Amino acid sequence: MASYNLLLLPGDGIGPEVMAEVEKLVGWYGRRGIARFETEKDLVGGSAYDAHGKAISDAAMARAQAADAVLFGAVGGPKWDKVPYEHRPEAGLLRLRKELGLFANLRPAICYPALADASSLKRELVEGLDIIIVRELTGGVYFGEPKEIVTLENGEKRAVDTQLYTTHEIERIARVAFELARKRRNKVSSAEKRNVMKTGVLWNEVVTRVHGAEYADVELEHVLADNCGMQLVRNPKQYDVIVTDNLFGDILSDVAAMLTGSLGMLPSASLGAEDPATGKRKALYEPVHGSAPDIAGKGLANPIAMIGSFAMALRYSFGLVAEADMLEKAIANVLASGLRTKDIAAAGTNAVGTREIGDAVVAELDRLAA
Ligand code: NAD
Repeated sequence: MASYNLLLLPGDGIGPEVMAEVEKLVGWYGRRGIARFETEKDLVGGSAYDAHGKAISDAAMARAQAADAVLFGAVGGPKWDKVPYEHRPEAGLLRLRKELGLFANLRPAICYPALADASSLKRELVEGLDIIIVRELTGGVYFGEPKEIVTLENGEKRAVDTQLYTTHEIERIARVAFELARKRRNKVSSAEKRNVMKTGVLWNEVVTRVHGAEYADVELEHVLADNCGMQLVRNPKQYDVIVTDNLFGDILSDVAAMLTGSLGMLPSASLGAEDPATGKRKALYEPVHGSAPDIAGKGLANPIAMIGSFAMALRYSFGLVAEADMLEKAIANVLASGLRTKDIAAAGTNAVGTREIGDAVVAELDRLAA
């Protein structure tokens, strides 16, 4: 039986509650003889600050570097609103992203048929939706220098952000998108604004070249990022994989997210460069939602985003594709059976808690694997 090292960083608020449901699954795969996950647990965010005075300790970072994959819950909460800026809970996540070199952020938007009515769009537009946004995560306008606000001689202020991309940064994110598409419906839509931005011109050129040289079997289309936003709410099912830069990806992935209903449903993966010697990538999997202090400790949180993040780890870090498919099917079946946490329950229906959903997913896996 294959064995993998998994670092669990449950974090704050509802993080530990939703992570507990993933731990049930980890046990299930071991008992079934499918894969042994050697898990270690550590602190991140406010809980790490309370214990060590910083949002992630060096020891936890070393564990993250050594792990085959990191599963991250959520960080933050009112208790830590006043801690020094460099030690705020999010600093733990940013350090992980930076030091693990996680340049590719994958956010699927899947609309389960049972939840199509929870979307703000019409059922026929979103039912069966399954797209993925690949966002460049470590470059672009959020990091480019100069980045400053200066006071001019006339007393006015001038703010500058710099959008900056190099060939290498575009090539590696394009490859992630093309590789993904090959395992899906074989289509990549590359979104930029080449009509008004030099980075868009280069982005378009490099994606086109990588496509021609290495991925000519994949369908490629170029779309202006503003049009992509419009198309996402007009006819989202036309897409398969959308690849885009950090800024546009931030916005387009939030648009795509809301097509599916609730924050409690959305998983994500952040991947680093492939190690040429081992073929492995550093990877961190996390739900898109935060620590939800308003419901923390009450057993009400929806664990599906966290469970879906684990399914992504099965698929992208461990190559357990059939197992990932089965876990996603189990989630869909649980939803189809009518079980819902409060965030996705229709008004007037009875909602269940975090544990009931986790238990139901395990029971459904038992049924599917029988
Ligand atoms: P949030 O995602 O924590 O919550 C927004 C709303 O969605 C809340 O009403 C919450 O109850 C609900 N919600 C979120 N996840 C849910 C789930 N799994 N099940 C049911 N309901 C869910 O965002 P926020 O309220 O803006 O932020 C709360 C804290 O989380 C802040 O400290 C913020 O900085 C932090 N945060 C952390 C991350 C992260 O760890 N990656 C991301 C976003 C926000």
